[in-house]
Amino acid sequence: MTGLTINRRAIMLAAAAAGGIGLAGSLGRHAAAQGMTPSAGNAGHYRFRVGEITATVLSDGVIGGPPRVYAIDAAEAELGAVLRNAFLPTDHMTLNLNTLLLETGGRRVLLEAGAGQSMGPNGGRFFASLAAIGLTPNDIDAIVVSHTHPDHVGNLRAADGGRAFPRAAVFVPRADWDFFVRGEPDLSYMPVPAEFRRSFAAAIKRSVEPVAGDVQLYEAGQEIVPGLTTIAASGHTPGMVTFLVHSGSDQLLLTADLAYQPVINIDRNWRPGPDRDRDAALEARRRIFDRAAADRLLVLGFHYPFPGLGRILRTDTGYAWVPAHWQF
Ligand SMILES: [Zn+2]
Repeated sequence: MTGLTINRRAIMLAAAAAGGIGLAGSLGRHAAAQGMTPSAGNAGHYRFRVGEITATVLSDGVIGGPPRVYAIDAAEAELGAVLRNAFLPTDHMTLNLNTLLLETGGRRVLLEAGAGQSMGPNGGRFFASLAAIGLTPNDIDAIVVSHTHPDHVGNLRAADGGRAFPRAAVFVPRADWDFFVRGEPDLSYMPVPAEFRRSFAAAIKRSVEPVAGDVQLYEAGQEIVPGLTTIAASGHTPGMVTFLVHSGSDQLLLTADLAYQPVINIDRNWRPGPDRDRDAALEARRRIFDRAAADRLLVLGFHYPFPGLGRILRTDTGYAWVPAHWQF
């Protein structure tokens, strides 16, 4: 118990020292990001097909924080060694924001809205990624989020406080809406400083406020549009789902936040600190990873290195992440 206490304290100090995974006062700044020219850096989009469905990963940039936050039960020395062996920094973990646009049946459906700058200055690239494929927010018909953490709903709010996607119907899991939006959630389970928790909770309410009047609340298991099914995966949050996109014999599984980074949460089975119910999250992770491995499914991880596509292999000791080859 003492070890755990020290670890938690160390994490909180580290997060505070790093200036946090900085949330404060950062919403509604994506106007600046919208001004980014698509040519300013590498492409933030990646297109592929799932049967008849055109799918495009649209990057919203990155967020991140102390690695320990995303591998709460790892021994310190082991975590450091695993990160070094993966040629990753040991003092900061970068998490991508891989939203996915589906074009199917004449509709454009976005899976996850992205963070905007609700969790730091390196998110909010979504609108530039969208412009790079010739579309505007007005072209989006529906947005489906897996859960309501700020990095999945941040872009719903425009800089002026209105709807960033004027025409889009927004679908949110009911259990998350009840917990995070209608309720005053106790986030003491999150291994981050209290100020971060307050900003995190406030960022959720601010982000969804413009769509609250006509949000469509769904139950896990529901099919949202033909070819897009939700799969119950609660644990990380009360309502989190994963998505199955299917067309003909092609399938794509989106793992939402079952894992943050394959190196620590798939190749190793360390648990993400932000999981609210750790046992339920572990059950969901095993159930869905087992299915992905057994059916050899193409998998997209919202936070995995861009574009986040690969497959999950069952090994003697657990799982292994195998990135998909780039398709031109
Ligand atoms: Zn997330």
